[in-house]
Amino acid sequence: MNAADDIDVIEAAAPAPRRSRQARVAWGEHVVTVGGDAPVRVQSMTNTDTVDAIGTAIQVKELALAGSELVRITVNTPEAAAAVPYIREQLDRMGIVVPLVGDFHYNGHRLLTDFPAMAQALSKYRINPGNVGKGDKRDRQFAMMVEAAAKYDKVVRIGVNWGSLDQELLAELMDSNAQRARPLDVKQVMYQALVQSALSSAEVARELGLKPDNIIISCKVSGVQDLISVYRALARRCDYALHLGLTEAGMATKGTVASATALGVLLQEGIGDTIRVSLTPQPGEARTQEVVVALEILQSLGLRTFNPSVTACPGCGRTTSTTFQELAKQIDDFLRAQMPVWKARYPGVEGLKVAVMGCIVNGPGESKHADIGISLPGTGEAPAAPVFIDGEKALTLRGEGIAQEFHKIVESYIERRFGGVAASPR
Ligand code: SF4
Repeated sequence: MNAADDIDVIEAAAPAPRRSRQARVAWGEHVVTVGGDAPVRVQSMTNTDTVDAIGTAIQVKELALAGSELVRITVNTPEAAAAVPYIREQLDRMGIVVPLVGDFHYNGHRLLTDFPAMAQALSKYRINPGNVGKGDKRDRQFAMMVEAAAKYDKVVRIGVNWGSLDQELLAELMDSNAQRARPLDVKQVMYQALVQSALSSAEVARELGLKPDNIIISCKVSGVQDLISVYRALARRCDYALHLGLTEAGMATKGTVASATALGVLLQEGIGDTIRVSLTPQPGEARTQEVVVALEILQSLGLRTFNPSVTACPGCGRTTSTTFQELAKQIDDFLRAQMPVWKARYPGVEGLKVAVMGCIVNGPGESKHADIGISLPGTGEAPAAPVFIDGEKALTLRGEGIAQEFHKIVESYIERRFGGVAASPR
């Protein structure tokens, strides 16, 4: 039999298209579209005291430069509310146009009423229906917040959270579940409560005059399978833009892996219009790490391209020196550090693919698939490192200065390939 007759067509995997409304989160002329045909957006949140306006403005700037397209800040006290316009002013002075999102709990209705300059300086409000108020105060206080959003034409994220779920709604659903002939399990009722809290709050917001395109929904939980279940249900039941994130994801490897797993599954299904990775920073770790992870998730799925990618092998018994690990890290750091400047100078450079490989087994092959690649000598191999450019072997590096020479080769490749046309200033 001809081998070709036996080949099944293997379809290339790709994220499913998204079908949501599009919200426009704006600051001045700078508009970040969320949902619809917009790219999946990256957001983050500061962990500074908002009252420290300078410190907060600096962190917002860092997050924005790292790639966060929306930045949320805590607005929890009158002092914090008073600081918001000043933070906005500082950012405008620094040329940082990123829209600010205000995070409100408990007293948002009062702050948005008493501090109109704050209400206007923010581009979006996050309202948690579980933390708006209790009993008969709840509806009135929710209405005050929504009316402020409608008045200033701001986008609202109705952000339900597992940890602060509306307890009255949950109790109600638990009671009616108990009356069922075959009661659902408790987890099922929790899922229903999360989704219902978000969607019924959105319904009330619309009745109060908020445009449906100005509504974004989130239902955050901390378990990967729970998040997938809840967002699938949300996506089936509404067409609002969805803010996606695993809440309290945790630290370092655990938080990164859990977020990437949950978000990866949902984004592949076309669910999620904007993401946040809620990492707990390790002591001394930059807050921007959560943005780095969010960008990597989107880039790994092929949804967006932010930075040149460096393919590096894991190393094994064939390469016992750390040279290739060091080179891979140096190249990765070098490319990331240059990107703020290169983005404007070298349009398209973010699509560059670099390979740094540890030995002859996969080195030449993987290097040929990259735009530019180097295959370092493994243990016992001749001390030579072939460099491949656009799939062809271009030269071989030898000696002590391989890393530096490879840096130069990468730089001149970028200049030659992407240096033709300067991007127009934004
Ligand atoms: S390329 Fe070589 S060093 Fe790297 S993992 Fe493969 S066999 Fe090991």
